[in-house]
Amino acid sequence: MDHFASTGGILHAEDVALPAIAEAVGTPVYVYSQATLQRHARVFREGLSALDNPLIVFAVKANPNLAVLRVLQREGFGADVVSGGELRRALAAGISPDKIVFSGVGKTRAELELGLDTAITQFNIESREEGIELAEIAAARGERARAALRINPDVDAGTHEKISTGKADNKFGVPLHHAPQIFADLAARDGLQLDGLAIHIGSQLADLAPLEAAFERIGTLLAELRASGHTIARVDLGGGLGVPYKAGETFPTPAEYGAMVARVTAGWDVQLAFEPGRVIAGNAGVLLTRVIRVKEGLNAPFVIVDAAMNDLARPALYGAWHDFDAVAETSERVTANIVGPICETGDTFARDRDCPALVAGDLAVFRTAGAYGATMASSYNSRGFVPEVLVSGSEFAVVADRIDAGAIMDAERVPDWLD
Ligand SMILES: *Cc1c(COP(=O)(O)O)cnc(C)c1O
Repeated sequence: MDHFASTGGILHAEDVALPAIAEAVGTPVYVYSQATLQRHARVFREGLSALDNPLIVFAVKANPNLAVLRVLQREGFGADVVSGGELRRALAAGISPDKIVFSGVGKTRAELELGLDTAITQFNIESREEGIELAEIAAARGERARAALRINPDVDAGTHEKISTGKADNKFGVPLHHAPQIFADLAARDGLQLDGLAIHIGSQLADLAPLEAAFERIGTLLAELRASGHTIARVDLGGGLGVPYKAGETFPTPAEYGAMVARVTAGWDVQLAFEPGRVIAGNAGVLLTRVIRVKEGLNAPFVIVDAAMNDLARPALYGAWHDFDAVAETSERVTANIVGPICETGDTFARDRDCPALVAGDLAVFRTAGAYGATMASSYNSRGFVPEVLVSGSEFAVVADRIDAGAIMDAERVPDWLD
């Protein structure tokens, strides 16, 4: 459920009419609903209420905006970070280091040091090589880094190949059948307090079965490691729950997910950690855009909007669907292609889509743009970066400025020898 609905024929974010935001901030602009973020955070936590003291860390990469992180920090969420930049954001949003988990296959030495400097609660180690490096750095400082070993369970998450992370040939984690030996090697090193396992098999999962299969494999490994004398105090089950991108689609609920987790992990005797991203932020945001013009096409018209693939990359990257709705309700429908202005055919949001009939100047939204939206933006075609707005009740605030093409150009130089 989200808080983007029509009142008096005009689409609102909570109590704010979207045309008011377009007027004040310009378009395109991302608009987030605080009440929706809070609701999703609470529903997720309630879904896990059968578990003892779970650690819930928001996957910052889904939406790293400081205001969004602050909302979730106030809901008691920690942060799952995948770079030094994300770690700094989590801290800047007030998230306590004892709720910060550092994931990612390519943490640099500087990033490992930053994690130690800031005393985060857990490094998710993705390879033997990374574990050795972290152990050496920590030992040289006279410290022990608390860590979990990320396992690649070799299950097919049944999602888009570019967001699948738990197949044997994906780059993430260590292969399940190498795990006992790598765990034993790393656990014996001075610089590590290796007492956890971690897993994350992919994103936008529509089905709980692959998650359950992966968790069962982790349960078997856990028993095996304990039988070999290792301590396992924490298991991080990752993120991955999908969200509906099309009106009417249904996905497993956090309650169903929580019930499955409680059943599969009964008797594990560990603290469980969770890294939800999309399920918290996805439906809490829209990308508000204005129609530049409607161009006649051979089979269907092209509705050219002022948002493009640089602002919302998912359709171009994954062929992803985003519902496209008019801000001012209309019953008139057409079949159209919805495209941005960028000089790439891939800059197409929808092809032969049944959508509201719009004319130049009309406002519209791409829904479910709160996760993997603004954060994937680029400045391709020198378009600058879109601003972000947070709505709460009848208030709204710009929580990220528009960075125009001029500001980006200001960071560039022509060297002397070209004078
Ligand atoms: C991306 C990612 C997540 C979040 O995935 P969602 O599908 O957004 O829930 C969690 N953990 C790790 C390690 C990730 O890379």
